[in-house]
Amino acid sequence: MNNPAYASKLPNVGTTIFTVMSQLAQQHGALNLSQGFPDFDPPQALMDRVTHHLKSGHNQYAPMTGLPELRQQIAVKIHRLYGNELDADSEITVTSGATEALFSAIQTVVTSGDEVIVFDPAYDSYEPAVTLAGGRTIHIPLTTPDFRIDWDRLGKAITSKTRLVIINSPHNPTGAVLDAADLDRLAEVLSRTDAMLLSDEVYEHIVFDQAKHHSVLTHSDLWRRSFVVSSFGKTYHATGWKIGYCVAPKQLSSEFRKVHQYNTFAVATPLQYALADFMSENEEHHLELPDFYQAKRDLFCHLVEPSRFSFVPTRGTYFQLLDYSAITDETDTDFANRLTKEIGVAAIPISVFCQEPIEAKLLRFCFAKDDDTLKKGAEILCQI
Ligand code: PMP
Ligand code: GLN
Repeated sequence: MNNPAYASKLPNVGTTIFTVMSQLAQQHGALNLSQGFPDFDPPQALMDRVTHHLKSGHNQYAPMTGLPELRQQIAVKIHRLYGNELDADSEITVTSGATEALFSAIQTVVTSGDEVIVFDPAYDSYEPAVTLAGGRTIHIPLTTPDFRIDWDRLGKAITSKTRLVIINSPHNPTGAVLDAADLDRLAEVLSRTDAMLLSDEVYEHIVFDQAKHHSVLTHSDLWRRSFVVSSFGKTYHATGWKIGYCVAPKQLSSEFRKVHQYNTFAVATPLQYALADFMSENEEHHLELPDFYQAKRDLFCHLVEPSRFSFVPTRGTYFQLLDYSAITDETDTDFANRLTKEIGVAAIPISVFCQEPIEAKLLRFCFAKDDDTLKKGAEILCQI
């Protein structure tokens, strides 16, 4: 009997760089500053609430759209932060991490032949989701050295086929942050089109130097055509819980839920109860995040200052780019591999997020780590 013949639906996709580098770090016993996750726990009170709900019989399916108590807490928080009067029943959906929200939003609107615009370096989950929906991803490079969006270039790239534009602020991997004027320019460009917007705001609470996160939710012209995605993983130091949410106007949310219900259906029940409790009892938790992570950024930057790496302190996210051009001519992938295997620190190469080769020699380091981990990492980096 013949094996069935089939063609890959994602012929150009390998294993995600985050899995590749974390595995390599483990194999070689390297300090893992590659994949973005904290090496410390979520708040104790939050973990206690999970245990409580596990033991209180909250172990069966949650409602498909998310636990009402949690959606309500999300609505309250958004109102406080961004001023929107959202309807928690029809405009907020709890998802299996931001990853599922992004995937479901893309499947909701993109059909065969559609074009989707992303800005390189672009987070790696966007394009495969577009491809699976039958769409084509159009890559626009961010301008160097500040990684800003060239709005004129976006205007020229939009065609009658453009279905969706994907933005990400604070930006992974560069840490760039959009300002209010950026959102105005985006609104102006999109106003002449039928394109929708997917705004990946998973690092909304991790911005530094008194900067403000400008959510698409605050911009009424943009919000009308948008899916806004966030992640509890980043905000509560719980990336392994894989829980996030998607906010969109009623009609878009209704279409989004048609996909979400057949993608994951519902999200882990005890986690939703625990987050709802914690959010209502600790309304201020997210206000601590900028100072908490800025202290880690500043410590890491201070410690690598004497090294041969150069850098501009990141403006948001828990990632710091380091320029290694004074050290070697190697490609970022070659250097990241050697750094992990031979020198003992794992980092993420940036070129894997870009369609066009990039000239800059940059690696991304995650500083969501205990201070001791950062000290060990920096000590090694200073010896190169
Ligand atoms: N978007 C960006 C920009 C991210 O960095 C991440 C995860 N690090 C995600 C989406 C996915 O978030 P989650 O882990 O909640 O699926
Ligand atoms: N988003 C995380 C990062 O940028 C990784 C998420 C994942 O491993 N899928 O490092």
